Amino acid sequence: MKDYLVRAVGYNGQIRAFAARTTETVGEAQRRHSTWPVVSAALGRSMTASVMMGAMLKGEDKITVKVEGNGPIGAMVLDADAKGNVRGFVTHGQVHFDLNEQGKLDVRAGVGTEGFLSVVKDLGMKEMFSSQVPIVSGEIAEDFTYYFATSEQLPSSVGLGVLVNPDNTILAAGGFIIQLMPGCEEETIAALEKHLATIEPVSKMIEKGLTPEEILEAVLGEAGNVQVLSHMPVQFECNCSKERYSRAIIGLGVQELEEMIKEEGNIETQCHFCLETYDFSEAELQALVNEIKTQLN
Ligand SMILES: [Zn+2]
Repeated sequence: MKDYLVRAVGYNGQIRAFAARTTETVGEAQRRHSTWPVVSAALGRSMTASVMMGAMLKGEDKITVKVEGNGPIGAMVLDADAKGNVRGFVTHGQVHFDLNEQGKLDVRAGVGTEGFLSVVKDLGMKEMFSSQVPIVSGEIAEDFTYYFATSEQLPSSVGLGVLVNPDNTILAAGGFIIQLMPGCEEETIAALEKHLATIEPVSKMIEKGLTPEEILEAVLGEAGNVQVLSHMPVQFECNCSKERYSRAIIGLGVQELEEMIKEEGNIETQCHFCLETYDFSEAELQALVNEIKTQLN
């Protein structure tokens, strides 16, 4: 099964819902960054939430989420768009923690319990929306729930899960976001809250291999009457390229570039998000210098 997400409504449009299977996507991030289990869980949960937040956008809109806790894994940065593409990195990928008291990966110990979750939405036409909330849990799902409630005034329920194999690869990953739309009736809220108290953890659902549709059915229950509106493939996708790095190098200007050529000769650049490297030989750098000079004339 390939990764995908579904957009849906429930309770006759009073609730909107998203669910995603992100096993391959988180697996790709784990392979590229060689993350250890707790870090994979923190990064994977954050990526899963971010790709669903991307699905709330339209067209060419983009979102950047930063989770900056005071724990040893450092900061996580996630980029997602409205087309199911997501990429992410973490400051320290190889940190080990013992299981927590519940016998689970101790994500809170890795992320920390203080710090910030910030969101920047690039809505095109130079329109930016940015917002920051304090980390309230460190387990990620609760932190996104808090973000939606305080920054977007959207009461939400967020469930995120990542399961890791003994060899550090990803066994399964996924999650859901349920949001009360304005005008949601009290009865609906009460019924939903009652049902949510009975559901099993999302990690159990993904372990059992539930599809995103089945996750929403489990989360909203029969009374929720889930109606799937659309499906979208989800993938780890980085839009870096040698061309983009060339533009960045040109931005340094003639003087700095000529000094770099003198001191370093060639340079190697690396993308934080996917760890792809791009080498520029002395001749290529010289060509970029010439390009700036031609533009200046
Ligand atoms: Zn990249």
